[in-house]
Amino acid sequence: MAETIKCKVLVVGGGPGGYVAGIKAGQLGLDTVLVDGDRLGGTCLIRGCIPSKAIIHAADMFEEMTHASSKDGHVGISLAGPPKLDLGKTVKWKEGIVDRLNGGVGALLKRAKVRVVGGWAKFSDAKTCTVGDTTIVAENVILATGSDPVELPHLPFGGDIVSSTGALDLPALPKRLAVVGAGYIGLELGIAYRKLGAEVTVVEAAERILPSYDKQLTNPVAQWLKKNGVEVLTGVKAQGFAKGALTIEGADGKKSEIKADKVLVAVGRKPRTQGWGLEGMGVDMNGRFVKVDDQCRTSMRGVWAIGDLVGEPMLAHKASAQGEMVAEIIAGHKRRFNPVAIPAVCFTEPEIVSVGLGPDDKVTGEVLNASFPWAANGRAMTLEGADDGGFVRVIARKDDHRLLGIQAVGRKVSELSGEFALALEMGATIEDITGIIHAHPTLSEGFFEAALRTVGHGIHV
Ligand code: FAD
Ligand code: NAD
Repeated sequence: MAETIKCKVLVVGGGPGGYVAGIKAGQLGLDTVLVDGDRLGGTCLIRGCIPSKAIIHAADMFEEMTHASSKDGHVGISLAGPPKLDLGKTVKWKEGIVDRLNGGVGALLKRAKVRVVGGWAKFSDAKTCTVGDTTIVAENVILATGSDPVELPHLPFGGDIVSSTGALDLPALPKRLAVVGAGYIGLELGIAYRKLGAEVTVVEAAERILPSYDKQLTNPVAQWLKKNGVEVLTGVKAQGFAKGALTIEGADGKKSEIKADKVLVAVGRKPRTQGWGLEGMGVDMNGRFVKVDDQCRTSMRGVWAIGDLVGEPMLAHKASAQGEMVAEIIAGHKRRFNPVAIPAVCFTEPEIVSVGLGPDDKVTGEVLNASFPWAANGRAMTLEGADDGGFVRVIARKDDHRLLGIQAVGRKVSELSGEFALALEMGATIEDITGIIHAHPTLSEGFFEAALRTVGHGIHV
């Protein structure tokens, strides 16, 4: 039955940007409606961050068991035979986690008294949309429509050519997987599928893998790929896929073929700006993204935009932070989006974490830059993470010792991102870090040691 809803806040999109904005707005007593045409949780919970980490975890388990079943069971644990993989069951287990989170988001929105309307919103003007038979008129609109995978014209998704969404739902392990794009998704999933036993070839247009991270940080990942038989072709573009072969072209114009049963195309994501009436809302654009100021206001009064829709970094925690902030601003709080640093983590083998400035970033004045190798950290040894060339690095200003950037590459270093972000956000100096007792044995001691080394006083190296 046709219905018109009037509300204070309308959130479009139930991903980590939109659902967090909705919950916060509801908690602050704002009359809030959230619309999503898909399952609550967005890209992140349904077909992104969480499902990919579930598959990565399963791949880690499989790899460990494969090692244990080999003759040299070097940790002293062995299995009678190699482990068996039922990828269909792994995908089902992953879906169980997704279902749990999807239900959790619904319950949290309900508790915050947010009305959820299922369906695709289509705007007729900046403050009015329809969702099926329902018309929604809002004082404030928060746009959080997220992003979609970029499709290459000569490699359209379908059949054996999959995006990350398809790669997370494969019914069986491909014997040979070709990955186009050695960025976050290509390497996180490419490495996972290698660990599960697929033959993996990665094709990257840039001159090196993970071009958004500095080379020192990506070297241990490149070493892992080499050691584990993943062929990496850089400076190469994919041209097309037919009859089980991916055609590629090198910088010299030479063409060749890679045999593959499946092709994962992961060459970036684009903001979801089309098909729902954005063009009629009168908001300015910033290239392909919606333009916002440091409060996530668009050029149209009362229309806000957050998350992947507004630009890089396209990360879930950035989307959520913006969503929370916008809800507070609408409720009358004074807020701005000006983080010192947004942590970035790549769940490769080994993992990479980067917060703040790196060695290639321009800084006025002199800097101190020191690293500490995991080879000298007891905890890393017990995690079998001391021999992959990994390290933790601290960059600080020479004059007042204030930290500018912290990075690490190594097994399980993603869990250090919180301490790194805290240090930068609190304006910590080298002495703030070296004055803190770090628990033993933990990887966090490596951060402490790297900070000590910036002033030449490392203890364990
Ligand atoms: P989204 O999560 O994309 O949500 C947008 C929502 O809006 C969707 O649910 C969609 O259905 C809905 N929607 C769109 N248009 C309409 C409309 N017209 N009407 C109604 N509803 C609409 N980030 C990390 O930080 N860490 C990770 O480890 C990580 N891993 C990832 C792994 C993969 C494979 C992928 C693909 C992404 C990953 N990301 C990761 C990125 C992360 O998923 C995104 O940055 C994040 O989901 C963006 O949140 P968002 O709320 O802006 O948009
Ligand atoms: P990406 O930007 O990380 O990597 C894309 C890669 O594809 C780049 O290295 C690029 O040089 C390469 N490329 C572009 N065109 C190409 C072509 N024609 N042929 C070969 N290579 C080509 O993009 P992604 O891996 O698709 O991930 C999308 C986004 O999702 C990320 O940028 C990130 O914001 C988010 N994400 C984050 C995480 C995380 O936080 N751990 C994990 C997955 C995804």
